[in-house]
Amino acid sequence: MIVKGKNYRYGIHVPDNKSLSKDKEIEVFPSPKMVYVSLTQHIGAPAQAVVNVGDKVKKGMLIGKETGFVSANVYSPISGEVKSIERITNGLQQNQEYVVIENDNLNEEEFLSPLTTFSKEEIVARIREAGIVGLGGAGFPTAVKFSPKEPIDTLIINGAECEPYLTCDYRLMLERADDIYKGIKYIKIALGVSNVIVGIEKNKPDVIEKFGKLFPDLKIVALKKQYPMGSEKHLIYCTTGRKVPVGKLPMDVSVCVANIKTVIACLEAVEDNKPLTEIVLTVSGNGIVEPKNLLVPLGTSFSEIIEFCGGLTEKAEKIIAGGPMMGKTLINLNHFARKTDSGITVLTKDETDIANPTNCINCAKCASNCPMRLMPMYIEAFALAGDFESAEKYGAMNCLECGSCAYNCPAKRSLVQSINYAKSKIRELKTNG
Ligand code: SF4
Ligand code: SF4
Repeated sequence: MIVKGKNYRYGIHVPDNKSLSKDKEIEVFPSPKMVYVSLTQHIGAPAQAVVNVGDKVKKGMLIGKETGFVSANVYSPISGEVKSIERITNGLQQNQEYVVIENDNLNEEEFLSPLTTFSKEEIVARIREAGIVGLGGAGFPTAVKFSPKEPIDTLIINGAECEPYLTCDYRLMLERADDIYKGIKYIKIALGVSNVIVGIEKNKPDVIEKFGKLFPDLKIVALKKQYPMGSEKHLIYCTTGRKVPVGKLPMDVSVCVANIKTVIACLEAVEDNKPLTEIVLTVSGNGIVEPKNLLVPLGTSFSEIIEFCGGLTEKAEKIIAGGPMMGKTLINLNHFARKTDSGITVLTKDETDIANPTNCINCAKCASNCPMRLMPMYIEAFALAGDFESAEKYGAMNCLECGSCAYNCPAKRSLVQSINYAKSKIRELKTNG
């Protein structure tokens, strides 16, 4: 059944620029010579290495063990030899521990043992064991999400993919619709729900039609193309009419949201016993010679991925991990594919607004489009003045980091950067008392 989604008043309209890669089928990236696998690819405590330098590993073997309730296992994406376990500062200036593995080209695999009962408990335990985290970018361990404290009555599958340039979810919905349906079946058991909604933005009419025809038992909600439709709170409102109160979670309105890639990872873990070792991402932007959608082993170097796409064009200016709205600009290409990556976007000078910020002119454009009804100009001012208590009072912690405010700011203020800074300081102050 296909129905129309509700509208929400705020948010922005950005060109989606998906035509560069939307017709490119997902290609399998050739197994890389080396992988650099971070032990911090999720929210929560880093995993702890369980291999030593010189150990032989097969694809699918545990190399990092979760270290707490909110943590996730990490598996080897290739077969080979562990060359080092070292701290590396990646292209986002994050200093993390990595397991570096050299490929032996034997392509040996060792997956998890098969399930026996396929019960709710066994499925949730398998999702945890497989190291699956929210693959839409959040990185929150999925098994924790699938063990809610409050009863859930509705599962929402997030097929919005509202971030410009990115088309990996679109391709998966076109190419692996049956697998998504099978994955949903297991998540329904894990959550104990029968009501499933799939939210898809209207700029993917072929997917909406396909899902509507193939899966009449699912409710397909055609959503208005509006940024950030893929944010959980907006998706929940537009598909169910339920409002998640500020500071609350989807489970507080009896809903659980799962991303398209997460659904497929759950299916592969449950049916094929495959832990999470690879991701699908989009490499796009006018700074890339040949945009593609790729299935890539975790830990593959971004330079190799870009090389595989023909390299950078002469006009390439800015390389972003993710899309241009919510992605993060890379300082260098010493960066390696992680579970939460959805894309690499390379923009040209013409597409990049690199004008220096000027003083705020109090036009309130940033506030008028903020989907969370915040006042970004004040939060930025408090952050810059070091007044983090006031930044928190003005709702800094509710910011989605969607970038709608900065996109609209005529003074080109780095609003998201400042709000992010305020958020990290607020967290730090709370941790240190
Ligand atoms: S303040 Fe946060 S939620 Fe609001 S528009 Fe800016 S980035 Fe998005
Ligand atoms: S949009 Fe920019 S210039 Fe206008 S109020 Fe917000 S921060 Fe100031």
